[in-house]
Amino acid sequence: MIPVEEARARLLAGLARKGTEWVALDDARGRVLAQDLIARRDQPPCAVSAMDGYAVRGADLAAPGAALRLIGRSVAGHGFDGEVAPGTTVRIFTGAPLPAGADAVALQEDATAEGDRITFAEAVAPGTFVRRQGLDFTTGSLALEAGAILGPLQLGLAATTGHAWLPVRRRPRAAILSTGDELVRPGETPGAAQIVSSNATTLAAMVQAWGGQPVDLGIVPDDREALAAAFAGLDDVDILLTSGGASVGEHDLVQEVATACGMKLDFWKIAMRPGKPLMVGSLGRTTMIGFPGNPVSSAVCAILFLRAALRTMLGLDPALPVRRLPLAGELGQNDRRQDYLRASLETLPDGAAAVRVTRRQDSSMFATLARADALVIRPPHAPPASPGELVEVILLPEVLGDLDRFPL
Ligand code: AMP
Ligand code: MG
Repeated sequence: MIPVEEARARLLAGLARKGTEWVALDDARGRVLAQDLIARRDQPPCAVSAMDGYAVRGADLAAPGAALRLIGRSVAGHGFDGEVAPGTTVRIFTGAPLPAGADAVALQEDATAEGDRITFAEAVAPGTFVRRQGLDFTTGSLALEAGAILGPLQLGLAATTGHAWLPVRRRPRAAILSTGDELVRPGETPGAAQIVSSNATTLAAMVQAWGGQPVDLGIVPDDREALAAAFAGLDDVDILLTSGGASVGEHDLVQEVATACGMKLDFWKIAMRPGKPLMVGSLGRTTMIGFPGNPVSSAVCAILFLRAALRTMLGLDPALPVRRLPLAGELGQNDRRQDYLRASLETLPDGAAAVRVTRRQDSSMFATLARADALVIRPPHAPPASPGELVEVILLPEVLGDLDRFPL
């Protein structure tokens, strides 16, 4: 058995970052920006008014009660062509270009109009209510850094800085193959001793959440020929994810058949619970991760290994966000495997958050994982822990979020 950290490092060492493709702004949500994005324009493009009012020269309104002659209008999208000479003013609206000669905007609330004579109740200093050219951003400045995840705000910024097409990392393609005589597809009626395959559903959704593109290879029975046929059909796939058949039983054929098909085994068996029989190797240019069939094991292994693999291929930090929270309840001495314990968040009487480990941790019990908030990490040989002690925690919504790097 090899330690979890060593297994992760070995898996990631074999992965290359994906190249770049260009996508239209409307198709870019959730993608990872592959190059720095440089602003192509100034915003605002010229000095504009921040309010509805009158464009003035500050020098004309040094004291309250001054009167100026109205000579025109400037509205958003259509400026005033002339110049605001001393003693004159131009009606102006929010976002409208500040006319030549003017250096400030007087609020309309402070102005009284009688014909073309405008009297101002307040003094106005130069610069008042003016947004200078390039206040938001200037041509040539860095709008978004390579590696940025394109969420709604980043897409808006890309649009306003003048980009309709964005260079993004190509999505890693992850093929998912479920193995087992006992499996039927969701929606099919299982026979008496059969179950509905759920791992492919979980894994495909995870691949999508982590920025990859799932490819469904379906279910194959525990049969050498059927497995070999599935392994032979891998073209244009970055990662192959198998589920099931990963242990040492007579019907656990994945490793044997993959090896016969040319798979080079990197490692097998990790010192962790759940998920010990995880296997990693390569089949041609495809990295293969063999997940245990137990739904809890395969989901936990995916959080630890698949997420890091996809993020590495996307050029993102593969580190798992780990937080420290106080325990509610007690934990016993751990053995030599690293545990990932299903747990729920609680609020202590003083209002602080704590984490309570679920009583039963059987790796076939998927319902407890689907209801859990977190996984508590118990390092190998961890001593017993008592309530209030800080433990390392993976928050499930955080790591399963839609490529979201932000904490809850
Ligand atoms: P295996 O790794 O093939 O020995 O499977 C371990 C356990 O996981 C068995 O109880 C299987 O029935 C179950 N299992 C295997 N594949 C899946 C799947 N795709 N969805 C849900 N459970 C599965
Ligand atoms: Mg099986």
